[in-house]
Amino acid sequence: MKAIVLHRNGGTEQMKYQDIPTPKVGRGDVLVRVRAAGVNHVDIDIRNGISGMEGNFPHILGVDAAGDVAEVGAGVTQWKKGDRVAPHFILSCGTCPNCVRGMENICHAFGILGATQWGTYAEYVKVKAHHLVRIPDKLSYDQAVSAYVPFATAWEALITVGKLSAGETCLVNAAGSGVGSAGVQVAKLAGATVIATAGSDDKLARARKLGADYTINYNKKKVGNAVLKLTGGLGVDCALDMVGGDSLLESIKALAQGARLVTVGAHAGEKVEVDFIEFFRKHISLHGCGRSTRAIAANVLELAAQGKLKPVIHKKFPLKKAAEAHRLMESRKFFGRMVLNP
Ligand SMILES: [Zn+2]
Repeated sequence: MKAIVLHRNGGTEQMKYQDIPTPKVGRGDVLVRVRAAGVNHVDIDIRNGISGMEGNFPHILGVDAAGDVAEVGAGVTQWKKGDRVAPHFILSCGTCPNCVRGMENICHAFGILGATQWGTYAEYVKVKAHHLVRIPDKLSYDQAVSAYVPFATAWEALITVGKLSAGETCLVNAAGSGVGSAGVQVAKLAGATVIATAGSDDKLARARKLGADYTINYNKKKVGNAVLKLTGGLGVDCALDMVGGDSLLESIKALAQGARLVTVGAHAGEKVEVDFIEFFRKHISLHGCGRSTRAIAANVLELAAQGKLKPVIHKKFPLKKAAEAHRLMESRKFFGRMVLNP
């Protein structure tokens, strides 16, 4: 099969488009023909060797995909050739206590697709049968892969963990990112008033089109003060951050009494000095998350099929141009998802 293969860590010049043997299907395995793969920031970290999840070479990147079943291994009864599926990015063991109680996202022995095993920047990807989620008929492969990780992550963060409910106010940082643009839509669907931040007025205009009620350009204004001003000094009930550093500190400042801050990433600053007095004085809480369950993923795909959540596709690339997609992601000049088509 054709794939983007890494033989060592480094820049985009290490992403080689080449032939590599198609994975062999064993007992319990499913081989998926990849029709669309998503580009995620973690792919860049893995390529650079800074994700902390690096495995062996040669390696194939790619944490998500949409495609159809090409072949099933012995013992697989729930899937058949041609089924439209998306592999879940958390490769759970299926048998540990957390998996058994339906919380396979915090499996005790999980792997990550495209990190701990070969991923989806390829014509085929092999996963276990229980790692797959069915794609609704109404969704195209490009839509499905664009919806999957961002909406599932935003849903888990805002709804499952952040307990966002109708009538509340929600801050969504980095609304131009995949999870950010999804977070704006999930928070609106939940009935919240949404304040979105981004680093350019152009991205803020896009965020308003997705439903954001108020927007803040974090390059022009301090987010904490701007949020307090917008909310009459009260602050927001829930905040979603995937940036870290100053963004995390400004989000804490923006929280109302009893508010929840959910963090799913910290690329711009993983070490932050936090004053915990605020936490008990304001009864606020901080939650780390970012790995959704398959049930959440199936739910957001269904909502996307119903048109209630709209996947945002920035640009599609043929698989062999994956390096170009990485450079565009590193430039941060995009809004929504980049899709690779093998
Ligand atoms: Zn498990």
